[in-house]
Amino acid sequence: MTKGTVSIQTDRCKGCGLCIQACPQHVLTLADTLNARGYHHVQLDERDGHCTGCGICAIVCPDVAFTVYREPLRRAA
Ligand code: SF4
Ligand code: SF4
Repeated sequence: MTKGTVSIQTDRCKGCGLCIQACPQHVLTLADTLNARGYHHVQLDERDGHCTGCGICAIVCPDVAFTVYREPLRRAA
């Protein structure tokens, strides 16, 4: 399976949860901490390295918070 990762501009996140629902690998969660806008922001749980770099999170996020990378680590979305 393709390996990937995402970087998240957490200050863009409003904690709507759309990406958490959409991620097929269930690797996105809401952080306990607040971002600069006062929202619990999304974070990537990388413990098991299950992100495939599919890009679905980037497609559904209304606030364009994601940058997606796929192996070999190149920007994908
Ligand atoms: S790229 Fe795909 S697997 Fe990785 S966090 Fe986004 S939706 Fe989940
Ligand atoms: S879809 Fe975007 S704004 Fe909504 S929780 Fe995910 S990163 Fe935050």
